[in-house]
Amino acid sequence: MPKHRIAVIPGDGIGPEIMDATLAIIESTGFEAEWVRLDAGLDAIDRCGQAVPTETIETIRQLGVALKGPTTTPSGGGHSSANVQLRKALDLFANVRPAHTLPGIKGAFADKKIDIITIRENTEDLYAGIEYQPHPDVAQAIKVITRPGCKRLCEYGFELAKKQGRKRLTAVHKANIMKLTDGMFLEEFHKAAAKYPELKADEIIVDNCCMQLVTRPEQFDMLVTENLYGDIVSDLCAGLVGGLGLAAGANIGLDCAVFEAVHGSAPDIAGKGLANPTALVLSGVLMLHHIGEHTRANALMAAVLAVCKEGKVLTGDLGGTASTTEYANHLMQFVKSPAAA
Ligand code: NAD
Repeated sequence: MPKHRIAVIPGDGIGPEIMDATLAIIESTGFEAEWVRLDAGLDAIDRCGQAVPTETIETIRQLGVALKGPTTTPSGGGHSSANVQLRKALDLFANVRPAHTLPGIKGAFADKKIDIITIRENTEDLYAGIEYQPHPDVAQAIKVITRPGCKRLCEYGFELAKKQGRKRLTAVHKANIMKLTDGMFLEEFHKAAAKYPELKADEIIVDNCCMQLVTRPEQFDMLVTENLYGDIVSDLCAGLVGGLGLAAGANIGLDCAVFEAVHGSAPDIAGKGLANPTALVLSGVLMLHHIGEHTRANALMAAVLAVCKEGKVLTGDLGGTASTTEYANHLMQFVKSPAAA
């Protein structure tokens, strides 16, 4: 009987193909788990008319940990986002998104030493989904920011910075314009900062932050921000270090955590065997650390670094020609025989 029971949501689009590859890669470290497969996304809509069935939410709540593939959300109409529903239902308030330079990965910023963690608020802001149309030519959305929401996010950010031996946490905001909402976020940031005098705490307006990220990204350590800015800024950070195929994420709540890549369901390449599973594999590394499997997490991370550094077998998004399966098999060889690295 495996020690761990972990919820698995393959999702849709490229989700099922990268999930199969990722589970095989995680198991190649010797890790054993009972993977409890759950529905969410387009398949769930087809099956029961809900993007996130109640059974999915209840099972994750019971198991405490899930690995999730991407799910499609139609733009402009259709069903509401499975991700937003899951994050709200499970109160996964902090979305942790690391972006760091990987050896061998080419790109405009390959010569920089980037190591940024973005902590994005995950349940409030414009993502509260309160929209209405008082007139055919006017649509409005409400930005919801609460003091307890800001407090727990900022405190989580400082605590994570301390735990990870980081030096600096920067609040990203637009409080010059959003004086009440972002103003409240900044107040709570500075209150939390006062409890961590050993860490440098500063702030930056989101537009300047984006400009600084693409000119001097190496200056940043950790960023903490509201939901919408965090969504955009973390994709920007992913682009600095090789793109969405490499960007991992963790949705953290008080009682459970859902690990998923930053990227979406990539309908343009779905079903073609071209998708890069690395972002989900790296989300798996975060998951292994979360459940205390540090040795296996480190082994998996070392194998990813070695495959990137070698640069011979990479998927198309990284300039290679390997299929998802070829890449996964190659990575598993490095996991099983680290000496080959
Ligand atoms: P996307 O992240 O799916 O794709 C953007 C680009 O990156 C595409 O060209 C795609 O081919 C490429 N890409 C993404 N992941 C890749 C991978 N693993 N390997 C290789 N290339 C990869 O973003 P999008 O096209 O804006 O969104 C598509 C759908 O995904 C939408 O319905 C959106 O709502 C949804 N989405 C879901 C999540 C999630 O489930 N967490 C996150 C973001 C977007």
